[in-house]
Amino acid sequence: MITLYHYPFCPHSRFVRLALDEYGIEPRLIEERPWERRREFLLMSPEGTTPVIIEDRRPGISGADVIAEYLDETRGFEMGERRLMPHVSLKERFKKLNIEVELGFSLEQAAQEAQRCLNCDIQTVFTAPLCIECDACVDICPMDCITFTENGEEADLRERLKAPSPHLDQDLYVADGLKTGRVMVKDEDVCLHCSLCAERCPTGAWDMQKYLIDMTHAGSTCQSKARSAA
Ligand code: SF4
Ligand code: SF4
Repeated sequence: MITLYHYPFCPHSRFVRLALDEYGIEPRLIEERPWERRREFLLMSPEGTTPVIIEDRRPGISGADVIAEYLDETRGFEMGERRLMPHVSLKERFKKLNIEVELGFSLEQAAQEAQRCLNCDIQTVFTAPLCIECDACVDICPMDCITFTENGEEADLRERLKAPSPHLDQDLYVADGLKTGRVMVKDEDVCLHCSLCAERCPTGAWDMQKYLIDMTHAGSTCQSKARSAA
């Protein structure tokens, strides 16, 4: 039995919950509030961060990357066809220990895996009058794409974002109407649509809404008129 010490809004804990689900493992969940710095938890995770897993009274394993590696090494081969990343066979690996183990995806596999991705048709929608500027969404965003700041010219604004915004062809999402007179700036270029901001927001100022792009295309009649006009 695996016990997972996690915090619901911690993105790293979410990552491990998803990974466990991929392996078909239902862990015993224990919610840990890292800021309380519980002594027993610090003994498992000296830096005091979630997630940590414990399996069968073995020492705790902390950190999402390390846990993912542990799951792969202990359960990966049982996954057979369902294993996410194709690997070199064990026989080959024992023959030569310094080869690259992960084979990577083929184009077809990459396209298939992309279908399982977060929904890109679910968009973040911000309602400024509901925002109390508590910065909780700024803290939780794994991509640092939300900034609350003074407004300014675009070039200057881009310089003051939490994360650099070098792709000038990607528009920024800027919303005013906040009580302090600042603006909310979101760099759409790096948003994962993970919805953590909406989950964390205490007032519902962030919401995830499905959207549909309905584009009008000029028909053949229109094209022939354009040609004769020219
Ligand atoms: S949906 Fe986008 S803005 Fe919101 S937390 Fe995720 S990456 Fe950040
Ligand atoms: S979490 Fe919600 S209320 Fe807090 S700053 Fe973000 S949008 Fe505003």
